Amino acid sequence: MKAFYAEEQKRHDPKAFLSSGAPQPNPEKPERVERLLAGARSAGLTIERPKNHGLGPIAAVHTPEYLDFLEHIFARWQRIEGASAEVIPNIHPIARDGSYPASAVGQAGYHMADTACPISAETWNSALWSAWSAVEAAEAVMAGAPSAYALCRPPGHHAFADIAGGFCFINNSAVAAQVLRGQAARVAILDVDLHHGNGTQGIFYARPDVLTVSLHADPVRFYPFFWGHADERGEGPGLGYNFNLPLPRKSGDAAFLEALASAFRRVHSFAPEALVVALGLDAFEGDPFGGLSVTTPGFARIGEAIAGLGLPTVIVQEGGYLCDALGDNLTAFLTGFGGKKG
Ligand SMILES: [Zn+2]
Repeated sequence: MKAFYAEEQKRHDPKAFLSSGAPQPNPEKPERVERLLAGARSAGLTIERPKNHGLGPIAAVHTPEYLDFLEHIFARWQRIEGASAEVIPNIHPIARDGSYPASAVGQAGYHMADTACPISAETWNSALWSAWSAVEAAEAVMAGAPSAYALCRPPGHHAFADIAGGFCFINNSAVAAQVLRGQAARVAILDVDLHHGNGTQGIFYARPDVLTVSLHADPVRFYPFFWGHADERGEGPGLGYNFNLPLPRKSGDAAFLEALASAFRRVHSFAPEALVVALGLDAFEGDPFGGLSVTTPGFARIGEAIAGLGLPTVIVQEGGYLCDALGDNLTAFLTGFGGKKG
């Protein structure tokens, strides 16, 4: 199996975020890339650099005003006297039914859901290359590869069509799914990150051609709080094409695999022609967020189970934070999936 990654993806280096109101070091560190590259290589994957695919495949799932914001906000922020070094919002529209703000501070609040996605000088470029890795992996699968892995960093699944959040700017899994739609009539996205894929759900919520399925820690007391509940099933023509499987905290491998079997039944009945796996590794028991107590052998079983669907598959990296086993967990997943034969 091929893996796609560009070194520009490492340059985004967020410094801080607020956790329960307290400033903390931002856990979405560039070093994650080194661990994930080592993990992919250990599974026998070869790393290739993606091409520059332009804004087209990104603008297919994000709004023009949002992309313009991401590209220019850091330079605009620099001109505000006394502003923070990184773009961090401090005011948000309670409902998004007011006017679109003209100011940098207003737009930061409009386009950023929380404080976990600070924007600095390299953020836009890193996010672009992360998305292009996803595009390249999708194109490899469309060209006949049974599967491909996109080492997407920064991650993407909390990014809506026009909102950044939770370390995410461009929704790489959604970009990959939309590229696959160029060839496949129906695409399923299976999100196994610890956190609900709220941005991905939002982007496809009213669409019946992309099924979104997410397994995650129950948002009743966990990020992203407002989304990820079992009664969110889609809307309009998309009603029934969103499936959430919230799990109790610390539930472990067996509960995760059982929920995965439910997810597969929904995927089977949808009969997709291609699959995107939004691969978070933060369900791991030793991850700093460690909410679901999945083990390293558990990731191998998850990979093996997903490979059993027998679908052309794009694996897109989402979360998974610095801990000793981060690379091993990726190796386990990819080896279970069949990394050496793909
Ligand atoms: Zn996560």
